[in-house]
Amino acid sequence: MNTINNHDFSNLHSHDANIIEIFSSIQGEGPYIGYRQLFVRFALCNLNCFYCDTKFEPQKFCKIEECPGSGNFVEQENPITSDQLIYKINEFSYFNHHSLSLTGGEPLLYCDFLDYFLSEFQKKKKNKSLKIYLETNGTLPDELKKIIRYLDIISMDIKIESSCRKPTPWREHGQFINTALNHNKELFAKVVVTDKITSNEIDDIAEFLKNREVSVILQPVTSENKDIVPNASKLLSTQETLLKKLNDVRIIPQVHKYLDLQ
Ligand code: SF4
Repeated sequence: MNTINNHDFSNLHSHDANIIEIFSSIQGEGPYIGYRQLFVRFALCNLNCFYCDTKFEPQKFCKIEECPGSGNFVEQENPITSDQLIYKINEFSYFNHHSLSLTGGEPLLYCDFLDYFLSEFQKKKKNKSLKIYLETNGTLPDELKKIIRYLDIISMDIKIESSCRKPTPWREHGQFINTALNHNKELFAKVVVTDKITSNEIDDIAEFLKNREVSVILQPVTSENKDIVPNASKLLSTQETLLKKLNDVRIIPQVHKYLDLQ
């Protein structure tokens, strides 16, 4: 495990996890926009993207929104065990939900916990058709291998330097995608695009993905700093360049921010 963001990830337990919040809402990004999901947001991340607006510091209490969209939360002390998480999830009425979204932070930091939790949840979940949807930064391929058998849909990021101000982890991204595709998992790659994206980066993305069956979602950054938000011409030209080598490249902004949802 990495030691980044002043956190030592080596002491994460297999039997409990620091969970920031549990709530029911719609997916606000990518091809599953609008689908109803239950979200479990894990604390901690192994990256430190400069545009990140997610609070992933470990919390003393996990917040649970009992009535969806109400903004009213009850609290449960962290860390949360697998049995407690299953109990809390099963208190939601989620028969009409599409999937359980494991999000963060970076949920794969809890792969040992997830291995146990997901095997138990398969047996105990009330909605047997509920899919498991992982939202990840796509940099932890070994951790992915541990839980991939439980996953239905994987939303991964491609972390380009103009957005993250760090070199793109192509090797980790490549191993991650190969693991998912070798297991025949549905996977799409999200690229957060700022006005600073370069033509070299666009070429690198195309080259990286050209022989891989992966849909690409170009997600314009959501930021109050209008200087970094890409304009229409930048977005469309980025898409056009990628479509010369890739089959499926879509521009999809975040919608939950417009709706003031979580
Ligand atoms: S990977 Fe996601 S959660 Fe982690 S720092 Fe980057 S944007 Fe934030």
